[in-house]
Amino acid sequence: MRTPTSRPLRVCLVGATGRMGTLIAREAPGERFEISGAVAGPGDSRLGKTLRELGARDSDTKVSPPSSLAGLLRKSDVCISFTNAQAEVSNLPTIVEGGVPYVSGTTGLTPQQRKEANSALTGKIPAVIASNFSVGANLLIAMSAALKALPQGFDVSIVEAHHSGKVDAPSGTALSIAQQVSKARGYTKTVSGRSGASKRAPDELEVVSLRGGGTPGIHTVYAFGPHEMITLEHLAFSRSSFALGALHAAEWVTAEGREPRVYGMADVVGLRL
Ligand code: NAD
Repeated sequence: MRTPTSRPLRVCLVGATGRMGTLIAREAPGERFEISGAVAGPGDSRLGKTLRELGARDSDTKVSPPSSLAGLLRKSDVCISFTNAQAEVSNLPTIVEGGVPYVSGTTGLTPQQRKEANSALTGKIPAVIASNFSVGANLLIAMSAALKALPQGFDVSIVEAHHSGKVDAPSGTALSIAQQVSKARGYTKTVSGRSGASKRAPDELEVVSLRGGGTPGIHTVYAFGPHEMITLEHLAFSRSSFALGALHAAEWVTAEGREPRVYGMADVVGLRL
């Protein structure tokens, strides 16, 4: 485990050429972070290019294929990974073996894949896994638990909007909100839209996904009562809120004495309910 030191935290960045990876490389202040390794998918056209050539950072670190991951982890203090579900699952054994703390924002893993990943990590390395690294969105997730206080007769619906390139739906954040809301309101089913004769049943939570343009992420929770309604909303102005949250998590998870288990962003920002 890392002890307090004045040298920058060495980050092995997996998914380094992606929207999030590029932004993390760009946003990480040089006095606190060094990108010691950069990994992209096996077919990525930017393999072999330096982060400088990619316009991501003033750094000679080259983008390497996943086969270089084990070696790059050996010269890193932490691994930050934003890839896709399949890549995340296939890189995980190497990351666990590498033994450095792990921060992952990849979404779209099935509940079974998530369960297997958590058990592979527990007892081995400290990890922060979050579907949303922004502090504000985590506050929204925590606040959703308060909907428990509303009387029966209130119906809750969740709407999320993201850019047209997003693969998974609903978003990981919407699923985290849905989990809190279902616990708070006793919902046992989720429906993802309506058409035709489709009246709402009392045990149904609505979760609706919209995809379009460059939207970085909007999550809205509606609590519709018979005579009033409440709206809770988080809107990310840019992906920088996620990048900075992931970097904050990397510093947090490498602190001395962190137990080898899976944490959430709620632990990092002290919002655990
Ligand atoms: P992207 O498609 O722009 O980038 C994917 C990156 O993964 C690329 O660099 C690609 O080369 C790399 N990759 C593919 N296969 C790989 C492999 N086998 N090994 C290593 N790298 C591999 O995606 P993005 O928009 O940057 O999003 C990445 C993930 O992060 C998605 O799951 C997205 O939903 C999620 N995300 C999470 C948050 C959050 O706050 N948790 C925020 C935004 C996006």
